[in-house]
Amino acid sequence: MSARRDAVSLDLSAEPLSHLTGVGPRVAAKLEARGLTTLQDLWLHLPLRYEDRTTLLPIRALKAGIAAQVEGRVEAVERGFRYRPVLRVAVSDDSGATLVLRFFHFRAAQVAQFAVGTRLRCYGTPRPGQHGLEIVHPSYRVLGDGEDAGLGDVLDPIYPAVEGIGPASLRKLISQALDRLPDAATLELLPPALLADLNLPSLHDAMLAMHRPPAGADIAALSAGTHPAQQRLAMEELLAHHLSLRRQRIALQQHRAPSLRGRDGLVKALLESLPFRLTGAQQRVFDEIRKDLARAHPMLRLVQGDVGSGKTVVAALAGMLAVERGKQVALAAPTELLAEQHLLNLRAWLEPLGVRVTWLAGKVTGKARSKVLEEVASGHAQVVVGTHALMQEAVVFNDLALAIVDEQHRFGVHQRLALRDKGASAGIVPHQLVMTATPIPRTLAMAAYSDLDVSAIDELPPGRTPVQTIVISAERRPELVERIRVACQQGRQVYWVCTLIDESDEVVATAAQNTFEALSAQLPELRVGLVHGRMKAAEKQAAMQSFKSAQTDLLVATTVIEVGVDVPNASLMIIENAERLGLAQLHQLRGRVGRGATASSCVLMYQAPLSNMARERLETMRHTSDGFLIAEKDLELRGPGELLGTRQTGLAEFRVADLARDAGMLPMVHALSERLLVESPELADRIVRRWIGGAVRYASA
Ligand code: ADP
Ligand code: MG
Repeated sequence: MSARRDAVSLDLSAEPLSHLTGVGPRVAAKLEARGLTTLQDLWLHLPLRYEDRTTLLPIRALKAGIAAQVEGRVEAVERGFRYRPVLRVAVSDDSGATLVLRFFHFRAAQVAQFAVGTRLRCYGTPRPGQHGLEIVHPSYRVLGDGEDAGLGDVLDPIYPAVEGIGPASLRKLISQALDRLPDAATLELLPPALLADLNLPSLHDAMLAMHRPPAGADIAALSAGTHPAQQRLAMEELLAHHLSLRRQRIALQQHRAPSLRGRDGLVKALLESLPFRLTGAQQRVFDEIRKDLARAHPMLRLVQGDVGSGKTVVAALAGMLAVERGKQVALAAPTELLAEQHLLNLRAWLEPLGVRVTWLAGKVTGKARSKVLEEVASGHAQVVVGTHALMQEAVVFNDLALAIVDEQHRFGVHQRLALRDKGASAGIVPHQLVMTATPIPRTLAMAAYSDLDVSAIDELPPGRTPVQTIVISAERRPELVERIRVACQQGRQVYWVCTLIDESDEVVATAAQNTFEALSAQLPELRVGLVHGRMKAAEKQAAMQSFKSAQTDLLVATTVIEVGVDVPNASLMIIENAERLGLAQLHQLRGRVGRGATASSCVLMYQAPLSNMARERLETMRHTSDGFLIAEKDLELRGPGELLGTRQTGLAEFRVADLARDAGMLPMVHALSERLLVESPELADRIVRRWIGGAVRYASA
């Protein structure tokens, strides 16, 4: 134990910032609000970019758009008032050229500083102005006539802002923290031989190179994140995350779980009663799950499968393995709509086999709720389907052996753990199956899910016709209205999806309401329905039900219909302002059509002008319907932070690493991690503690 404590103090990760000069309780609180509580946090608060004040450029050599530092004397000062107050200061140097400094905000004292002849040193990015180049709001310094100001020998770091602390103070604090950086040997955790092999600097040198790059440092590499110093830090961070996930997994494997070696009566019966045969992919994934469940160790498996790939039936089959053993299954879905759809499917499939399926959602209250809770607690309910309500404390299972979470990224890690814990007792935990229709690019899965087993249902059931995707400008809306009319005359059904930048339910609901009214007026012969997030659950349900049973021809909806809705007769979807949605969401929405045998189309309607990003997204949608390709593209366009929030993975945001950029390092990181776990678990421990600490809980827990 004491060896461990030594390790912590050596890591300095525990050293609080109050030990620095200038950090009282108020400053400490502001730093903490930004997640900065230890010396090490400051070491890892890396610059966003740099300013090069290590050289002076002759004014004549300035180029528009390229930041530089110059020195000269004030030649003229002009205070004007065109549309707003403006101060212009002309500065010239020996090169004989003149630069204009322009200020829109200034104080009288500042004006007084700029007497003609004053020596100034300034830094900024010149732009073409009325009279040659000018710099708006440069940073500047007044120099005395004989003053020798010297030049810095390192680039000036510009740090990500910390609210309430000025940039200069922040820089001073970080500089103080760096002065207390231990020497290279003390700080280093990785074997020197390894670093030499990889051609990477020590942690010590890497940190200094990031915070204080010497004059002449490769700024381009630094801002691209390809500098060896960044790579060094990113590598250790990726290693720490991988190690922690691996350790979590090892810890999970220490637990036992009920072995659900099937007698297969119910599985067979279910397979025989289905109106279809499993696809090869469904069969393969079910076999993988069946093998996991037969073991006396907890399964933690992620099933990825594109929308419509048929995950539900695989989940139902897995559930039957538990029910056959006299145990219970829970299936949680993020929305009531989706959960209810599961309920309907499972009831239709399982009740004829004599399996009791129970429903628990937020709206089940009072006596009904007590009754459900009792059925769950007594074990009478064999399969329990519901929403977040399943995770509440009052819900007690008799013998939960399998916890299934659908669209797991819409739940927090803690919620999933809460459900799992309902089946936990004395070293035994239930098996967990998580499902997602948001495919994770392979690179990301490697980093985020190295603690889970991943199965992919990478095949759609037969008989689906690919959805044709059309991209058109909103000006062509009238044509669409005609198209809807024709489709509905042919007995088809249509979705019209409204989106807005302002994601507040209320604004979107109003927009949907307006669209609903406009379309109802334009298409009087159609039965038009409306569903949005502000409606009561019962109203939503009624609207959806009416669409499902073909009582509604055209459904105007917000993105609440995103997941899980299954209406095979719907063959046309129009997405308004499609340019505002991300690829993953567009893909999810589009998956609502093309579920039947009729050729379907999805119209992505956009408001011009399109940004390049938006154009690329829409093009991607037009060209492919492969969820994995789309996910890769999404990663490329948006970066992993947005694609895969901490909610989804339980991974904290990376401080240095960027999965899209650094994915190439992963195989090496993984190999290294396996080696460390075997050869130096103590070291592995310290690496994890340095980067992650004890605060994070993981997806694998
Ligand atoms: P998702 O993976 O998006 O959750 P679902 O489980 O909702 O997909 O399945 C989509 C539809 O396909 C459902 O109507 C389901 O009954 C049907 N389905 C599932 N598997 C098959 C199959 N092998 N053959 C034909 N239809 C299937
Ligand atoms: Mg589903």
